[in-house]
Amino acid sequence: MELEERFSSEESCVDYLAAMRWPEGFRCPGCAGDQAWRATRSRWVCRDCARETSVTAGTIFADSRLPLRLWFRAIWQVVTQKDGASAMGLQRVLGLGSYRTAWSLLHKLRRAMVRPGRDRLCGPVEVDECYIGATEPGKNGRQPGRKTLVVAAVECVSARKIGRIRLKQIAAANATELEAFIVDAVESGAIVRTDDWSGYRGLRAKGCYKHDPTPMRASPASEDTILPRVHLVFSLLKRWLMSTHQGAVRQSHLDYYLDEFTFRFNRRKSASRGKLFYRLLQQSAMIGPQPYRTLRGETTSHHNR
Ligand SMILES: [Zn+2]
Repeated sequence: MELEERFSSEESCVDYLAAMRWPEGFRCPGCAGDQAWRATRSRWVCRDCARETSVTAGTIFADSRLPLRLWFRAIWQVVTQKDGASAMGLQRVLGLGSYRTAWSLLHKLRRAMVRPGRDRLCGPVEVDECYIGATEPGKNGRQPGRKTLVVAAVECVSARKIGRIRLKQIAAANATELEAFIVDAVESGAIVRTDDWSGYRGLRAKGCYKHDPTPMRASPASEDTILPRVHLVFSLLKRWLMSTHQGAVRQSHLDYYLDEFTFRFNRRKSASRGKLFYRLLQQSAMIGPQPYRTLRGETTSHHNR
């Protein structure tokens, strides 16, 4: 309700975004001049170089025909739905005409959840893979459907404490996929703790990491105690997916949910809804336009950075 009131008009959203982007007053992106006049509520014209700048230029909102007010409400929906947002839910709540619009909104926001240029995890880091089961209705209740492999990297802070995480869907648990994920997610020089799966064996030879493998395939009962943090993250992820979608997440949508889970998890300590709203809005203003055509078919190549 508070948000509805605060951002009840397009003008209030424009002003808020402008204040966020230019906290010390307008700056021309062309010549860095700070003298400008406001041609309309949302457009500035630089007095030095005459360049016209929209408040949404260079942000995720730039190529959108949707009013900012709608974007703000969509962001609010995403951060307040504890069990995760869905395109269908978003379409209903925002009263959008088409599912496609809601879907593209959600996937653009997903890009913003994955903050550009974010830091890699620092060691020690636990890494493991697990299967996320899609389920399908069957003769005897729920039957396991296609399973999807997800790899996770989890920062070990102290004792059993968890820092930040990274998640990614991978095609196979082979050295190519696992090493690519680790290089992408973990700072070089870090201690990487894994089990003794062959896919991790080349890690030490790469020279970038201190590999600390623990034999555990022989005693699967002890997995939780050897890599406790990564297994806790997997169980939280599974529970979250289960409560949202009864576990039946379509494989093509899984990347979105992994990013949303990561966004929430890495901000769990400052998880006031207002703060999450501000973060996602801020990151939406940081990344450039995300054309619809680039959203499609990216799901398998996306790197969950
Ligand atoms: Zn200028």
